[in-house]
Amino acid sequence: MFWLVPRALVPMLLVGLGALLGAWLGRVWGWPVVGSVLGGMAGSAAWTLVDTLRAGRLMQWLSSSLSTASPALVGLWGEAGLRMERALRSREREIQREQERLTQFLSAIEASPNGVLLLDVNDQILWTNRVAADQLGLHPQRDLQQRVTNLVRAPAFVAALHEREASMTPVQIPGLGGRGLISVLLRPYGEGQRLMLTQDVTERERADAMRRDFVANVSHEIRTPLTVLAGFVETMAGLPLSDEERRRVLTLMGQQTQRMQALVGDLLTLARLEGSPKPAVESWWRLDRVGRQVESDARALSGGRHQLSFDWGVDLEVAGNEGELLSAVANLVNNAVRYTPEQGRVTVSTQQREDGGLDIAVLDTGPGIAAEHVPRLTERFYRVDSSRSRDTGGTGLGLSIVKHVAQRHGGELRISSEVGQGSNFTISLPAIRVRQCELQAQIH
Ligand code: ADP
Repeated sequence: MFWLVPRALVPMLLVGLGALLGAWLGRVWGWPVVGSVLGGMAGSAAWTLVDTLRAGRLMQWLSSSLSTASPALVGLWGEAGLRMERALRSREREIQREQERLTQFLSAIEASPNGVLLLDVNDQILWTNRVAADQLGLHPQRDLQQRVTNLVRAPAFVAALHEREASMTPVQIPGLGGRGLISVLLRPYGEGQRLMLTQDVTERERADAMRRDFVANVSHEIRTPLTVLAGFVETMAGLPLSDEERRRVLTLMGQQTQRMQALVGDLLTLARLEGSPKPAVESWWRLDRVGRQVESDARALSGGRHQLSFDWGVDLEVAGNEGELLSAVANLVNNAVRYTPEQGRVTVSTQQREDGGLDIAVLDTGPGIAAEHVPRLTERFYRVDSSRSRDTGGTGLGLSIVKHVAQRHGGELRISSEVGQGSNFTISLPAIRVRQCELQAQIH
């Protein structure tokens, strides 16, 4: 501050010099005192003018956008301008840093797979990320400052919002257009503000529902043969049976036991398929070798009641899990034989597609399947005719296993059928899993 003192003396000096000059000139005119007063006033006026001009330039700069440097002024105004500019720039840098931090923070929340929405104390929307906006059908900018209950009207949500107590239990509301399910959790923050976290739980709920259905179905499938078995056990324990009757009851008991065994076997197969990695593309095996086994099983099952024909192609090799593909093809052939009436025809044909992939088709001249059932056939326990399925030892899981196996090998199961005309179940494998062994032999 002390260095400012000499500068503060400048106006005094100017007034003093003016007075001296005035006194000197006054002496010439004969009024030295009047001259010195007038000289002093002139000096003071000159200083005030210079000072006001400087202050004016500083004020002009202050009223501008402040993007330029402060005006280069000597004296106090110049110093004041410089200090103001320095303080201003440092504040600007701080704001810039804050802004960057905020932008980073918001982009991180924006990148979140869950929805985030901020509500003020009046439940008006302060900010929302894109996910929350999409899930709740809001516009991320236009709907800011809107009361959230005007836009999200699901009663469960409105009730949760009015209940000011913080809860860790999310509410579930229907998704946009009534489709899907959105879970919404409200958490308090700041002073009366609230954070709304949203999550699309449609898939999770569907999976849960499927799991519940599956457990219910399995329990039902197991309970039926168990009830029958329990009845037979009671009969055998309580009633005196002839040898013939005993044999009949034991045969029926054996059938029920087999039914449970088949069911448990298929359930284990499904669990294995779901829990294991995809079959390797390197393990090759001959298709006709698998074919021979399928053929002999089919002939045994048919017992000569059907016309069966098999074509496994020429020297074809398939890469993947031999056991899985054997069980998939066997399942299709087994179904064809079971559902096709006596004297019907079951044909297995193999055709290499133009893209190098392989189609293994199982055709039958059985009853066919109505179009509305076809898309659901691969659902677990879905049966068109439950009694026919059970009577012939079906578990209702065969086609889901086939579909799983085909997909695990990068292929698919295609079904086409017409009532009264028969059915065509085709396993399509991709080119990468098919080769001709002769060709391979030539290459090596
Ligand atoms: P299931 O053990 O009951 O045969 P699948 O999953 O193998 O179970 O088949 C599901 C349903 O598809 C069967 O219950 C049956 O109604 C129908 N289905 C399967 N294959 C045929 C076929 N070749 N002809 C007619 N219906 C079939």
